Amino acid sequence: MDHTILKPMTTSSNQGAKLKQAFDRYELSELIEPYLIYDDKKNSALVLISVHHTRQISAHHGMEACQEILDILIKQLKGFVKENCLLVRTGKHEFALLLQNLNNPGHCQLALNRLERDLNNKTLSVKSYTTKTRMTISGALYPRHAITAESLIQSSEIAQHQAESTGVSHLMFTQVMSNRIEKQLKVETELDLAIQRKSLEVWYQPKIDLRTQKLYGVEALCRWKSNHDGFVSPEIFIPIAENSLMIKELTEWVTNTSLRNLMEWHKLGLGINMAINMSGIVVDNEEFVEFIEHSCGVWGIKPKYVTIEVTETAMMQSFETNLDKLNHLKDRGFTISMDDFGTGYSSLEYFKSLPVNEVKIDKSFVINMMDNEDDRKMVSMIAGLSRGFGLKIVAEGVENEGSLQALKELGVHRAQGYHIAKPMPEDEFLTWADFYLTNLDL
Ligand code: C2E
Ligand code: CA
Ligand code: CA
Repeated sequence: MDHTILKPMTTSSNQGAKLKQAFDRYELSELIEPYLIYDDKKNSALVLISVHHTRQISAHHGMEACQEILDILIKQLKGFVKENCLLVRTGKHEFALLLQNLNNPGHCQLALNRLERDLNNKTLSVKSYTTKTRMTISGALYPRHAITAESLIQSSEIAQHQAESTGVSHLMFTQVMSNRIEKQLKVETELDLAIQRKSLEVWYQPKIDLRTQKLYGVEALCRWKSNHDGFVSPEIFIPIAENSLMIKELTEWVTNTSLRNLMEWHKLGLGINMAINMSGIVVDNEEFVEFIEHSCGVWGIKPKYVTIEVTETAMMQSFETNLDKLNHLKDRGFTISMDDFGTGYSSLEYFKSLPVNEVKIDKSFVINMMDNEDDRKMVSMIAGLSRGFGLKIVAEGVENEGSLQALKELGVHRAQGYHIAKPMPEDEFLTWADFYLTNLDL
């Protein structure tokens, strides 16, 4: 029998078949094992289907409405099942489909494409409302990717994870994914340990007032020295922390460490501002406002000395829900800074209602502004726009004196960059500040 290409079958004896269930991976493994043909020349494929929109339906319209939608989907999925193929329900919103006897491994990709085309992003109507289907479909092949039922499940899950974390709706497993996940897991474990042992560091990079030359403040930047790889860039470990929810703990630690240091500096007479980066996930958290206010309370820091940096992209993504939180903090006297400005997609409409008092022009425009006409125009445009809205303008990535002067002429208020100083550990920063302020006074 040829099962090479998956076709929807409208009249199938399988339509009425009872759906097999496996609520853990061992059960699924036992169910699919007999269907795998232990012969290198025959291909089987395991497809995992994770339905997302039904979770929201369940939350907003209740279990019954959710079940109605799931019943429609199950009926459609059964229509795809041919003889000797197996459809298993692996969770409330998850299904597995084992396809047997594929003549060509490429046919698994065709099956994914077909499932995507026929089932995903489709409008379904039940009773009083209409919904769009949203699912992630992933697949892996026996024997190309895995030679046991267990490892076949694992490979399909890796593809599923990769699809979900990159926002792709259907994806075939590749060995590269497996290597990447293995590396990521290693880094994740090590980072988790570093957070628990508090072996991370906070470095500080100065921000200068361009009009007075005074030291306005610093940005707190997290540093992690891994035992195996030395210093790992935050561009790598922050997204890992964000994906694994370690970001909450990391941010709490960075916030407390930097505010404790700030309290000590204030006691020394260094009354500067502290800018702390907040990931979108952290701002999304219900306790975000309380966390910020509580941390300032613990270290006796007034809000006017704290800047909350949120990237333009994060701000736009959760615009509606986080507007109130940021507005509240702004009203309390915190500075809300829109980080990496120019790299996102804010419309002017949004811009005027954003709860910010500072815009940070992304370094990608500033670094080359003396050599690149387009970058200079971008900087000038962002500065003009921000000034029009009465916002403070900060430029990061100032790498030379030419840019510094040009930024001053454009009316930019504050500058940060390697030309002024690189991020430094606390003791080095204090030495630097002492030297800088002494020379400023002369
Ligand atoms: P960011 O918030 O845009 O921080 C500025 C980055 O630009 C820093 O990179 C800084 O070292 C770098 N930089 C500053 N001046 C110059 C310059 O003149 N030239 C060049 N080429 N680069 C300059 P870093 O420290 O590697 O941090 C990268 C990103 O990681 C940060 O970008 C921020 O998004 C994130 N990050 C760092 N620490 C934290 C943290 O504690 N929490 C969160 N959520 N994110 C953090
Ligand atoms: Ca920043
Ligand atoms: Ca930035």
